[in-house]
Amino acid sequence: MDIPDTPILLYRPFLPPMEEYMREIERIWSTVTLSNNGPIHQEFEAKLTERLHVENVSLFVNGHMALEIAIKTLGLQGEVITTPFTFASTVHAISNCGLTPVFCDIRPEDFNIDASKIEDLITDKTSAIIPVHVFGTPCDVVSIDRIAQKHKLKVIYDAAHAFGVSVNGTGIGNFGDISMFSLHATKVFHSIEGGALAYNHRPYKPLMNKLRNFGIHSPEAVDLIGTNAKMNEFQAAMGVINLRYIDVELEKRRKLTLQYRQRLSSIKGLTLMHDKPGVIPNYVYFPVLIESDEFGMTRDELHDRLKQVNVFTRKYFYPLCSDFDSYRHLGKAGQLRYARSIASRVLVLPLYSTLSEETVDYICDSVHYIYEFGGLTAESPVN
Ligand SMILES: *Cc1c(COP(=O)(O)O)cnc(C)c1O
Repeated sequence: MDIPDTPILLYRPFLPPMEEYMREIERIWSTVTLSNNGPIHQEFEAKLTERLHVENVSLFVNGHMALEIAIKTLGLQGEVITTPFTFASTVHAISNCGLTPVFCDIRPEDFNIDASKIEDLITDKTSAIIPVHVFGTPCDVVSIDRIAQKHKLKVIYDAAHAFGVSVNGTGIGNFGDISMFSLHATKVFHSIEGGALAYNHRPYKPLMNKLRNFGIHSPEAVDLIGTNAKMNEFQAAMGVINLRYIDVELEKRRKLTLQYRQRLSSIKGLTLMHDKPGVIPNYVYFPVLIESDEFGMTRDELHDRLKQVNVFTRKYFYPLCSDFDSYRHLGKAGQLRYARSIASRVLVLPLYSTLSEETVDYICDSVHYIYEFGGLTAESPVN
């Protein structure tokens, strides 16, 4: 086994054939519309609505701004219950809108917010729940929606990881009041940067459109405090084209995931994720959990040893958002037991559609070798 010369990265963005993108953006030179709800933007919005199997979609410059606009659209106030096991964006969106994040523990089996612990955190200041479909695995949407109805709370799902996922035939963007999809280059499906909100309540549309465009109502009237969060035509063109490739992309990821599972399932102390009944997954990431007692080393050691053989993995999500300097005062240690445990044991392995089967084999061989022999030396076969 030779160590590859070039590093095996965690992620590489999908790029369509360059000529195809060139042809698409040529239209921009004839319309001379570069932004502000241009024709490609409109086309992308319509096509995305269809692909996500949702009622309405609004597009934004990125997923984070989309999340902030979702919060403003619903007029949330006070406290919002969310998960500490997420990307910084989820919690920052809550804070940037002047609200207080309240961290709820997660379920160890799928890393999603533990719905059974939400009600204990509800106070008279709580206005919403913002759960995250972590690694594309759907949250317990039935329980969350039931709790929200009972306590008259809004629900915004951070579906940044969940593009293309469905539950019992229903597109993941149909749950809660609003769902946010990130269309960033490192996600399963992208528009370079971009974000989309999906929702069933049609009247949100004009409000979102206004909020993303400075609150402008008409040339002489600005009636809301808005921001600038518009998607431009170059982004929309990438999105329109990438939609043509998404099914091939998902299929390639499925195959690589099955290969990983087959090759790694025999290793003691390594827990893999499995498909859930009724769920069409998108294989966005390949996370594993390391039980150091059985595996023979900690997650951090495995991460470092893989790096020595040019395999770049990521401790994701680590640290927890509740451990960031800005939020440390909010997280109550004892109540985030599983989140803490998972964050210390999780490791995400490289996965993207242009990853070759041989490379996945190399990564799995490396993990096996590290497991068997505890490390790598100059004489070891991994050299
Ligand atoms: C990527 C991501 C976001 C932010 O999306 P951007 O498009 O990068 O702004 C928010 N939440 C989660 C969980 C993400 O992974």
